[in-house]
Amino acid sequence: AWSRVKRRLRAELGEDVFASWFARLELEAVSAGTARLTVPTRFLKSWIESHYLDRVLNTFRSEADEVARIEVSVRGPAAPVRAVAPGAAKPNPTSGPLARLHAAGTPAPAPVAVAEPDSALRGEPGDLNGAPLDGRLTFTSFVVGRSNALAHAAAERVARHEGEGALYNPLYFHAGVGLGKTHLLHGIGHAARDAGRRVIYLTADRFMYGFVNALKTQNALAFKERLRAIDLLILDDVQFIQGKSIQAEFGHTINALIDAGRQVVVASDRPPTELEALDERVRSRLAGGLVVEIGNLDEQLRTSILAARLAAVRASHPNFEVSPTVAAYVAKAITANGRDLEGAVNRLLAHATLTGTAVTLETAETAIRDLVKNREPKRIKIEDIQKLVASRYNVSRSDILSERRTAAVVKPRQIAMYLSKVLTLRSLPEIGRRFGGRDHTTVLHAVRKIEKQIGEDAVLGDEVELLKRMLQD
Ligand code: ADP
Ligand code: MG
Repeated sequence: AWSRVKRRLRAELGEDVFASWFARLELEAVSAGTARLTVPTRFLKSWIESHYLDRVLNTFRSEADEVARIEVSVRGPAAPVRAVAPGAAKPNPTSGPLARLHAAGTPAPAPVAVAEPDSALRGEPGDLNGAPLDGRLTFTSFVVGRSNALAHAAAERVARHEGEGALYNPLYFHAGVGLGKTHLLHGIGHAARDAGRRVIYLTADRFMYGFVNALKTQNALAFKERLRAIDLLILDDVQFIQGKSIQAEFGHTINALIDAGRQVVVASDRPPTELEALDERVRSRLAGGLVVEIGNLDEQLRTSILAARLAAVRASHPNFEVSPTVAAYVAKAITANGRDLEGAVNRLLAHATLTGTAVTLETAETAIRDLVKNREPKRIKIEDIQKLVASRYNVSRSDILSERRTAAVVKPRQIAMYLSKVLTLRSLPEIGRRFGGRDHTTVLHAVRKIEKQIGEDAVLGDEVELLKRMLQD
């Protein structure tokens, strides 16, 4: 029923609106009459809730009449975890210590979302003051290590640049989740503002919101002029920019700014060449400045970030003590990213304040145990994908890797490529290599084709979903 609901929304609302607000809406479960839906950001949640809740409910109900309520929540970066509101970690007398411990460590909503209080959404239609900068995310609080030194140096240079023109334009950061992109962007924003420059910081969601709203209120021209009359445009999470007219507008905006010598800084979870939703020209423009990857946090960097974080917390909780042994354990155990390090600190703090005891190695282990396990995403191997898909479609794995172009082989091959792209962190060229040395454009073609077919053909959609589940657990 869910894929039918989505298809109907797409048909009724049009491709652009659908791509902007519903493409990333997912069904988590239906239970006791409530359909629990998830989206990746708080912004999308409030937007859908305030504009489309009735519509989604009615459409859903007409496909599945047991559904009486819709609940939208923000999912975490990895598994569809329901995020707690930022206030939820505050003491709550009705829940026991365990509940609180859990709440304190539940993957927090992305800092972007936290820095974007709902009141910011209630501005004038088409209002474009950007999202506020988070006061904690500055260059001073950013810890420099091997994996982010280059990104940090470029960020500092761009932020402190004086004089004509822009330095590297655009400056483009890419990295996995929680590796400090947003932190660096805010750092640039603060420093440039302090130097008296006109800065707008926007997430992709906010950019889309601003643009769609401006169109609705026929303020598109004012919106564009506003955007172009600044010194520095910072755009976060551009991988989420979707929709034909929106991406065209996005392209025009960055072109206009760059051509006028204004600085553009962009962050994404992937390199520009892999922004599949964007037009080729926009991608190459994005790739035309300086592209810097931020690597995984090594143990040394994790140790320093953790130390800085602990020191910051101690400023408001002077009794909170974490021994060097415990800190070393946490830095070793939490390998994924900076967000989880922060979650771990919150848990230790919750534990210490609740029990009034010092954090021992043993209690630390218990407090962060599921964070350690859960946050380690299951690594799915391309080889396993190929084997599974081959067996489902009654072909051999070597058929999939071969040059054969009969329909019976082409389709499973494309599905396997698609799954490799969405389930592994491999780049398109790497996937091409693993599929018998094919070119990355072949892979991209397959990914797009399957994406399109899934949207149109519910049976195929379910089939692919099933394959995904089989690979994931
Ligand atoms: P991203 O935008 O790449 O997903 P964030 O910038 O939101 O990641 O970082 C996640 C958390 O980790 C934030 O609380 C951030 O302050 C922290 N963090 C990441 N890298 C660093 C760093 N080098 N120094 C200090 N804090 C960091
Ligand atoms: Mg971010």
